[in-house]
Amino acid sequence: MKLHARPMVLLIALLALAPSFTWPQEKSADAPKFFHIEPVHPVAELQTIALAATPPVEHGDFRPSDLVELTALDPTIKLDIRYATTRNFLGTPLYSQARAFMQRPAALALARVQKSLANEGYGLLVHDAYRPWYVTKIFWDATPVDKHEFVADPASGSRHNRGCAVDLTLYTLADGKPVEMPSLYDEMSDRAYPNYAGGPEEPRRLRELLRRHMEAEGFSVFQYEWWHFDYRDWKSYALQNARFEDIGETKAKH
Ligand SMILES: [Zn+2]
Repeated sequence: MKLHARPMVLLIALLALAPSFTWPQEKSADAPKFFHIEPVHPVAELQTIALAATPPVEHGDFRPSDLVELTALDPTIKLDIRYATTRNFLGTPLYSQARAFMQRPAALALARVQKSLANEGYGLLVHDAYRPWYVTKIFWDATPVDKHEFVADPASGSRHNRGCAVDLTLYTLADGKPVEMPSLYDEMSDRAYPNYAGGPEEPRRLRELLRRHMEAEGFSVFQYEWWHFDYRDWKSYALQNARFEDIGETKAKH
């Protein structure tokens, strides 16, 4: 999917007024909105640099990686892997495959969240889970310094790089559609904070519902992003840099 001509003109006009970021609208009124920044360097160049870079060396006893494909564990977990599309904050695909993996204990916990939410009429819609380290480096290098609180420093890596973080929202079981939350995914504003008290009540209720069910299974919410949850065992797993293309078909073993 490419930006259409009219939104591109609008985007350029808005960028002249607000140099660091804007919210481009898709052509169709039904298309979901997404948050977008203007990368401070071209992403294609940053990708070449990031793929050639080496993740930081870590010392310690780590559990062996055991990444499980979430949809193999529970096919009712829905995916909208934004970084495999242009509908992400950099406006360009970072993944060539729309897949979501987590370390097995985290994936099993997430499957339990899915079951408990079903009793309330909701399911999980995952935007991102395991993320190779080089993608974290691209995010950091592409993001303006004044927005760095929203992206992980590649010097220490992201919990996504350990297969122990997940970005997600809720969908309604009745119609399969994502719910409205207090902010867009990856929105770099205070609306993204999990304790943001503004806006309509129903999105905040749903944000709390998601958080309550996630916390019951050992996840904790990130202080700047209502959609980002870390699994409690994240310190037990090392940073990883395997690309999705290099991870084979995984069979879920319960
Ligand atoms: Zn995240």
